[in-house]
Order: sequence, then structure tokens, then C-alpha cells
Amino acid sequence: MAIDFSLSEELEDVRLRIRAFIDDVVRPVEDHIESERLAETDRRAYGKALMELRAKAREDGLWLPHMPAAWGGMGLGHVELAMVQAEAARCRFGPWVLNCQAPDEGNMHTLLHWGTDDQKERYLRPLLEGNAWSCFAMTEPEVAGSDPTLIRTAGYPDGEEWVLNGHKWFISNAHRASFAILIARTEDDPELPQAANTAFIIDLPADGWTEVRQIETMHGSTGHSEILIEDLRVHERQMLGGRGQGHLLGQYRLGPARLAHCMR
Ligand SMILES: Cc1cc2nc3c(=O)[nH]c(=O)nc-3n(C[C@H](O)[C@H](O)[C@H](O)COP(=O)(O)OP(=O)(O)OC[C@H]3O[C@@H](n4cnc5c(N)ncnc54)[C@H](O)[C@@H]3O)c2cc1C
Repeated sequence: MAIDFSLSEELEDVRLRIRAFIDDVVRPVEDHIESERLAETDRRAYGKALMELRAKAREDGLWLPHMPAAWGGMGLGHVELAMVQAEAARCRFGPWVLNCQAPDEGNMHTLLHWGTDDQKERYLRPLLEGNAWSCFAMTEPEVAGSDPTLIRTAGYPDGEEWVLNGHKWFISNAHRASFAILIARTEDDPELPQAANTAFIIDLPADGWTEVRQIETMHGSTGHSEILIEDLRVHERQMLGGRGQGHLLGQYRLGPARLAHCMR
């Protein structure tokens, strides 16, 4: 049986509004930024141009398409969001202008679902306002990223703190992030291999968190970093979700984020 991907009239209207916004508003500014090489020649004008685009997206109700209306978003479901991401990514700055860029977009979903009220105020709110950058640190050079049960970055409790040691790479946005969601192994012998990991929110910069380098990829050099984690101490209130729930949290995060990535 064929799958029906057609959108309702109302959602087709949203898709077309985003297409028009990208083509008529974002693309001309982007072309100007690139032709004048503003990022290198005039950082102030560059920042101003981008912030004006974001203000316009907000004004036009095209802000946070993936977030519920109660959190200032457009409240779209996964199919609609897939269409929106594809339209937004018709030009380079599109997703960022709508504030639905990776990896912040996936971290927003995750914080909304897994965060305590305090964590939502401290970490989710600034992302929604466009005032923070974040990263998600799971993949490791020593083991296959396809299977997070193999993760070796490990944490042990010490009083009210956890002490973390390990090695991550391909961590998008780590270069500029104000916090990371870090996945580490905390359980030695869980009943299920998928119950060994726990997520922690790490304020950055932090002692014990060292960026080794930014890795060149086919995506370019926009910052997928290798990170060394050495005796990084984090208070237990920075745990995101419960002990042993890091794998589940990762799957919850990566499902919609992978879909959004593909569409972009
Ligand atoms: C641009 C970019 C940005 C990224 N951003 C992030 C990020 O922000 N945070 C983060 O944590 N990670 C990030 N990653 C890492 C990404 O999640 C991993 O690359 C991915 O999970 C695959 O893991 P791997 O690279 O270790 O490859 P591997 O898991 O080693 O896989 C290599 C190949 O082997 C195959 N394979 C693996 N295991 C098996 C098996 N058991 N049987 C058969 N075949 C197998 C795979 O299908 C694949 O073809 C990023 C990667 C890139 C390229």
C-alpha cells in the first residue's frame, strides 16, 4: 500500500510560506554575505544581518518549527517538520534562521522531554531564545558509533559529584557550545546492555573537557570536534534523565534528529 505523504491545506500553506521566506528573505542576505565575504571582512555587519533574519522569522511566526506552541514554536509533527526542514535547508543559513539547526534542534527535543523544570529553564530556554549553542557528545573513536552499548567514556560517583573520563569525536558544535549533553557509562553490570549509560549536562568550558581538534568532514570544517575528558567533575543534579537511561535518551533524541538531518 502506498504511503500518503500529502499535506493538509493548512500545512501546505506553512511549507509554501517557508519556501517564500527562504527564497525572498534569507537567500538575498546570504548571497550578500557570501559575495562581500562579510564573515571575514566585517563581523559586526555579518552578525547584524543574521540577527535581523532571525528577528524577521520570529515576527513572521516561522520560529522553532519543531517545538510545541507552549514553548514558542510552531507545534508541527514529524511529517510536517520533515517538509519544513527540507524547505529551510534550500539555503545555508535557513535552518539557523528558523532556529531548527543541528545539533541544537535535537537537544531541544531531548531537554523538553527529559529535563527537570530547573534544567529546562537553565538550558532549554536559552536555546529557544537563540541565545546559546549546545552539543551532543556520544560517538567515540575507539568503538563503533553505530552501537552505543560499546561506549567506554565512564563515570563513577564521588559524594554529590560524578567523575568522568573518556574520549569523544565528531561532536558537532562543541567548539562554540555553552553546554554539552554527554553520554557516559555508569553501570558496570546492567541486566540489559542498553541500560549501562547515563546522560549528563556539562557547562562549557569546563576543567577536564579539552578540545583536541576540529575534524574535517565532507560537511566542511564547521566544527565537529574531538574531545578528551579527563577527571571532569559534574554535580549529580546535572544528570539528564535517570541513571542507566542514557541509551534510551540517545534513541529518543536521534530518531527525530536523523529524520531532520536527512531532509536538510
Ligand atoms: C558530520 C558528522 C557529524 C557528527 N556529529 C555527531 C555529534 O554531534 N555527536 C555524536 O555523538 N556523533 C556525531 N557524529 C558521529 C556519528 O553519529 C557516527 O559517525 C555514526 O554513529 C557512525 O559511527 P562510526 O563513525 O563510529 O562508524 P561505525 O559504527 O564504525 O560504522 C562504520 C561502518 O561499519 C558498519 N557497521 C558498524 N557496526 C556494524 C556491525 N555490527 N555489523 C555490520 N556493520 C557494522 C556501519 O554501518 C558503517 O558502514 C557525527 C558524524 C559526522 C560525519
